[in-house]
Amino acid sequence: MNGGLAHACGVFGVYAPNQPVAQLTYLGLYALQHRGQESAGIAVSDGQNVTVVKDMGLVTQVFDERSLAPLEGHLGIGHTRYSTTGSSSWRNAQPIYRSVGETGFALGHNGNLTNTAELAGTLGMLPGLTADETSFDSTTDSALVAELIAREWPDEPRSDGRELEHALEKVLPRLKGGFSFVLMDDARLIGVRDPHGFWPLALGRLEGGGWVLASETAALDIVGAHYVRDVQPGEMVVIDAAGLRREHRFAEPDPKLCLFEFIYFARPDTNLYGQSVHAARQRMGEELARQAPVDADMVMPIPESGIPAGQGYARSSGIPYGDGLVKNRYVGRTFIQPNQKIRGQSVRMKLNPLPENIRGKRLVVVDDSIVRGTTTRQVVAMLREAGATEIHFRVSSPPYKWPCYYGMDTGRKSELLAADLEVGEIRDYLGVDSLAYLELERLTKATGSSEESFCTACLSGNYPVPVPLEDTKHVLEIDVSNARLTDTDSAPRFPGVSPSAPA
Ligand code: AMP
Repeated sequence: MNGGLAHACGVFGVYAPNQPVAQLTYLGLYALQHRGQESAGIAVSDGQNVTVVKDMGLVTQVFDERSLAPLEGHLGIGHTRYSTTGSSSWRNAQPIYRSVGETGFALGHNGNLTNTAELAGTLGMLPGLTADETSFDSTTDSALVAELIAREWPDEPRSDGRELEHALEKVLPRLKGGFSFVLMDDARLIGVRDPHGFWPLALGRLEGGGWVLASETAALDIVGAHYVRDVQPGEMVVIDAAGLRREHRFAEPDPKLCLFEFIYFARPDTNLYGQSVHAARQRMGEELARQAPVDADMVMPIPESGIPAGQGYARSSGIPYGDGLVKNRYVGRTFIQPNQKIRGQSVRMKLNPLPENIRGKRLVVVDDSIVRGTTTRQVVAMLREAGATEIHFRVSSPPYKWPCYYGMDTGRKSELLAADLEVGEIRDYLGVDSLAYLELERLTKATGSSEESFCTACLSGNYPVPVPLEDTKHVLEIDVSNARLTDTDSAPRFPGVSPSAPA
């Protein structure tokens, strides 16, 4: 079982002869940077060769004109990663390239599989194998998928060149958990979503021809593509010289989009289930005001993710909206720093109060979620220091109680503030005068879709794909040096844990 450091990654793909695909992929990844800041990579094919450039760091750190220049071709895929499984190191950066005979393919994965150990077992990845007998070059579940595909590759080249598709048809039904894949060989771009569609994957059309796949519709806008439709849960789409050539269904769809995409992950300018995320977040704030009203002088959001809900709360309550905190625009999200010590420091780096707006006021402070409580507690202390007389904290989602096993960063159950604490205890821990969380029913109402169409596991404990519920996270570490699989407890993510520890 896998788990651990995970933010939903960002994936992007483009098929566009006569267009600068590497530059388009770069722009797409840039738009998806919020989905993962650990590493970035692009693979491009010119019809003969697939070239991959990837490295640790932000998209702008990994790529510049010089590193994009050799990436010439008519199709490409890209990936921004925050580690879901495996350690945080170069060899786990994506896209993963895998050669098969004379040819090869590249893969980018958003999500986390829940049956990695079982799959590795079927590959004979068991103690006793020598490194030469395996071809893993990375510890991720994504590398395992690449290996499965390679092993299902037809022995004889097919006249239609559709080996990758053929292998995928065999592999995909065996995968469990969360996966939105972009894949490519030298001539085809492929997009895949798991049967629950935990993670989004949109299909767009470029002006002047060409196709785009992207984790979020905002990335389509940025490359000048218009939204066509979502890749459906349980579907594989194949794009090649003939266009969107085939649409395979490899499993019955049972849509369970991650509700946290609506709450926090997705950019507000993205559409999910046909709804603007920004407008949905405003409605969440309105619902919150109806559900948990309070007498106060000012509604202020925690920027940036709390802004739309803060606006909604103010609109619905009639309490004036104001700014109480300024966010440094150049600092990334603090939650996804690799260890607790750095996270603690970075709250101050990222948010600074505006005392003249806060002093002497009774505040309604609105945020989208509380996960570990680390940031929230510090923000509350800063607001008190800046002179707030009352702090009424309002959260536009229910208590976050359960770890995600499908690809989201939450850590262990014991690290989640609401896992074992009642709302009153959380209120005291945070040091606020009152605290309210938006009810699940009101939250889903605000999204415009039914509760059944979401994965709400982190909020409800209802896991659409079975997972072990004990408070340990097991990590499958594929040790390349002696080709052994170990299924171990992951180390805690807090002080003393080196970022390279398996997680
Ligand atoms: P904390 O008080 O430490 O739980 O942090 C709460 C803040 O983290 C809220 O402002 C959320 O917007 C943000 N947040 C929630 N989930 C995540 C995530 N997976 N990655 C980064 N930030 C998150």
